Amino acid sequence: MVILEEAFLLGKSFFEESSLKKGQDLYLSNKLKLSFEKERAYEGIVALTFSGLVFQDSLWWDVQLSFRFTEKEGLSSLLVKPKCSCLPFLEKGQCAHAAALFYHVYVEKLRKRQLAFKDFVEQGEEEHGGEITEEGTGRTKRFQAGVIPREFGLFYHHAKEVLGLPVSRFDLGLFQLCSGQVISLPSPTPFLGTLVVRFFSNPYRVLYAYKTEKIHTFVSLFSEYSLFNWETGEYFFFENVIVNALKKIKMLGLHGPNDLFFVWHELVESGQVILLWNDGPLESVLSKLQKATIVANFFSQEESTCLEFFLEAENEKGNVLVQIPSALKFFFFQGGYLDHFYTKREALNFLEKILKTSRENWKEILTSSHSLNGEWKNFFTFQLQMLSEQGEDLICFSPQGELFSFSLKSWEKLWRALWNFGGHEFLK
Ligand SMILES: [Zn+2]
Repeated sequence: MVILEEAFLLGKSFFEESSLKKGQDLYLSNKLKLSFEKERAYEGIVALTFSGLVFQDSLWWDVQLSFRFTEKEGLSSLLVKPKCSCLPFLEKGQCAHAAALFYHVYVEKLRKRQLAFKDFVEQGEEEHGGEITEEGTGRTKRFQAGVIPREFGLFYHHAKEVLGLPVSRFDLGLFQLCSGQVISLPSPTPFLGTLVVRFFSNPYRVLYAYKTEKIHTFVSLFSEYSLFNWETGEYFFFENVIVNALKKIKMLGLHGPNDLFFVWHELVESGQVILLWNDGPLESVLSKLQKATIVANFFSQEESTCLEFFLEAENEKGNVLVQIPSALKFFFFQGGYLDHFYTKREALNFLEKILKTSRENWKEILTSSHSLNGEWKNFFTFQLQMLSEQGEDLICFSPQGELFSFSLKSWEKLWRALWNFGGHEFLK
């Protein structure tokens, strides 16, 4: 059913997929009673509140959802705040009961509004006015809804990624807090908490938060190396080591788990950063990862022999294919990093150097190479440094988001064997 899929897609910004799936089942089995609803609209912002009861495990759970979006942007600017009395909600800030109510509200209310919203946009903005009349003075001024985040916890590499910012400078925007209040960005004060880097599986993504006495998740990181709290309106700037890490992430466009673990890991010991995997301690997950193994597949294509690699691992359902960690793209053409050398010969020379040097010294290899442009050279240098210092294993994950480890040693061994077998000629 298309409508349920729409609800699922929209809901993914606010709920984990497992909560949404359970919520959908509860919604479809008619185990939900709406008890209260309220709508308010002010200065172009629509605020909806719904309360309901959801029946599960022979109990009725009391759920509440607040929705907030701008009239101008409709559901693309939607913010959702759930509330429930169950244990999963207390632990994770979300649960299947709230997700069930989300389905109900989407199907019965929001979707109809969204269709009406499309009509509204098509009728043209002038007709509905982008202006409001100031109370008291009677003057009209340009209507401006506050800036809101696409999702809490993101690191915005550019100001233009934030929703509703009229110019590409954060400090010129009006920010709409979770409470609905719209404020301008205050002057930043030094950041004193601990930065929390939250890795999530299925789909893989990284969200930032920070910890003082409690963990604040309604935050955004800005490209100015600053952090904004959408609940309190506080604005902080980072110093030194956190700035350096964020700079690396921004400049090199890093997003894979290996890259980000590597960048943040050295700050963990200093107590400035905490790393979480699905909101549990990352270290305990990493220490008991299953190994993935390499499968090499030879096949012929247009009279030459090609070679492709897969990583395979076992989970309770059998064998799964695992994504090749991005750092290993050094070994590939056709979408791999070797494509970025100016000529194929240079790429093969680079590969040869790698295979003749022990891994601990890989990070020195690029300093003598001039066959890359600056941007790629920086990226390569970072990746080689990571492989040099990473230790034995890389982290990789399956499409379902399970983590596995992968032995760099066996990867090196395989490649050295291939090289000794055929060298340049073979790898062409
Ligand atoms: Zn609940």
